[in-house]
Amino acid sequence: APGLYLVATPIGAARDITLRALDILATADVLAAEDTRTLRHLMEIHGIPLGDRPLVAVHDHNEAAASPRLVRAMSEGKSVAYASEAGTPMVSDPGFPLARACIAAGLPVIAAPGPSAALCALTVSGLPSDRFLFAGFAPAAAGARRTFLDGLRDVGATLILYESPKRINQLLKDLSQSFGEMRQTAVCRELTKRFEEVTRGTLAEVSAAYAGRDVKGEIVVLVDRAADVQADQGDWEEALDRALDQMSV
Ligand code: SAM
Repeated sequence: APGLYLVATPIGAARDITLRALDILATADVLAAEDTRTLRHLMEIHGIPLGDRPLVAVHDHNEAAASPRLVRAMSEGKSVAYASEAGTPMVSDPGFPLARACIAAGLPVIAAPGPSAALCALTVSGLPSDRFLFAGFAPAAAGARRTFLDGLRDVGATLILYESPKRINQLLKDLSQSFGEMRQTAVCRELTKRFEEVTRGTLAEVSAAYAGRDVKGEIVVLVDRAADVQADQGDWEEALDRALDQMSV
């Protein structure tokens, strides 16, 4: 059926792809990818021939220009499968302008859900999973970074951040400054891969564990909500319970 299929792809282990995602990759009229080589490689691993179907590059630098052409193809009845380099499209990855263009044109947008480093990390972090805020990458520039982190300090949810291995030690330092070094944290590295590693503890403990290391690989950092925010949350829930009790006469 025509429309845009947003296909989640593995974040490490090549077999972390759904059967439906493979079906979509095998049958879409047009394939589009942030990195065409990565998608080609993934399809090879799973024995899916590209055949004579077009494989179009759609990344941050050309998405606005490439979208109208793909939207036209879909309006003419074609199905387009889009995969970002890894994980779920649009999660710190391209795909948003294309999806918006489809919605504006009244075309179906369909997800083939699957891996995302954010949820994968949350599930292994040991931190509360009832509420979380995905904040993507913190800005690289010191001032903007400080403002960004200070703005997240009192959020009543587990915080999920992406970070490059080059800046992980700096981020842990900045988090300690903004959040206080007793805040619980988890650093998840190389999830679903051979050297998967999860380091849990206070910001002070995890910073110490990472200090002086030549860190490699891909990283997600999670931070617990503030203790007083948790308390407020309890008060708030109690207040709501009381209010509801009073209402049900
Ligand atoms: N779209 C992807 C998703 O759904 O997770 C994220 C793309 S973003 C450009 C790449 C960042 O995701 C990495 O820098 C890292 O922070 C995180 N990431 C991706 N794969 C990971 C993995 N296997 N282990 C830990 N973090 C990962």
